[in-house]
Amino acid sequence: MLIDSFHRVHNYLRISLTDNCNLRCSYCMPEEDYDFTPASRLMQVDEVVAIAQAFVEAGVTKIRLTGGEPLVRKDAAQIIEKLSGLGVALTMTTNATRVHEFLDLMQAVDMKKINVSLDTLNRDTFLFLTKRDLFDRVKENIGLLLERGFEVKVNAVVMRGINDVEILDFVRWSAEAPLDIRFIEFMPFEGNRWEQEKVVTWQQMLEVVRNSYGAGIEPLPRQPHETVKQYRVVGGKGTFAVISTLSAPFCGDCNRMRLTADGKMKNCLFSKGETDLLGALRRGESLSALIQQTVMEKALALGGQFAADLENIDANSIVNRSMITIGG
Ligand code: SAM
Ligand code: SF4
Repeated sequence: MLIDSFHRVHNYLRISLTDNCNLRCSYCMPEEDYDFTPASRLMQVDEVVAIAQAFVEAGVTKIRLTGGEPLVRKDAAQIIEKLSGLGVALTMTTNATRVHEFLDLMQAVDMKKINVSLDTLNRDTFLFLTKRDLFDRVKENIGLLLERGFEVKVNAVVMRGINDVEILDFVRWSAEAPLDIRFIEFMPFEGNRWEQEKVVTWQQMLEVVRNSYGAGIEPLPRQPHETVKQYRVVGGKGTFAVISTLSAPFCGDCNRMRLTADGKMKNCLFSKGETDLLGALRRGESLSALIQQTVMEKALALGGQFAADLENIDANSIVNRSMITIGG
């Protein structure tokens, strides 16, 4: 078992398959002419599987594929097929622009839960946020996922002055369709032009909903290790939730670890340190001690880099990669 110095058991691995993407979300990707990592420096198919296998042997029971956009990788199907043989719950976070090409495979490997990122229900705002005109495709693909019976969560990063006016539209959608909307606080990463004024906190998001729905929303019990506070419109088909990573982080029972597309292990989204598992694998070294050690070094909260005190976060002092190179 992977247990850190604060007695937290780590059984959940998020693997980034690539830092490439077909969208250009400003809060994630540093700039339009961002250089993607060359393929030779990324984990190859068998390397992804070998490193994942080492984590499974150490106690991992759930793997989420992410990126960049995991489905732009040419060998994504091969990786999904091979990882499905590891006997873990396999899930994915995707922008859903290519999901229609993978539905059969996802069903064949029993991938039941899919997180889709969609920050707006407005086509023009989508184009502004992502620099690509793919709103209809994403909406259609969410429909296809629901038709096929996948459990769908929709992630929306809420930013003041950009999409905060759509909170109630998203909540209405969660009442009409069987999906879970997750409002995410805007987080600071290398090159993403984060400003405290752009953050809408979970309390502020809930206030908007409460002002409109009053007693028409109800809280749902928190599941262990969950990073969300979840609610439902009374009588609604789906749910909505707020992810308060910045203003009220859920680090106390965190069970997550991350593997970047170039094979570096991070014990936290905000960790400064990285452990080069791909290098070790290529040198023929054992991974298990490195993984154990990296978990043991995990900080109590937020990578040990800042406190959950929004007013005083100095984004420039945080040492980290850009979100697209970590894997969200
Ligand atoms: N391309 C896939 C997608 O967009 O779902 C997977 C990778 S993306 C980096 C994973 C998640 O990170 C997305 O839900 C995205 O909204 C979230 N994310 C990226 N940058 C963020 C930021 N600065 N603050 C909060 N969430 C962020
Ligand atoms: Fe691409 Fe996802 Fe980042 Fe948007 S959030 S740029 S879709 S990786």
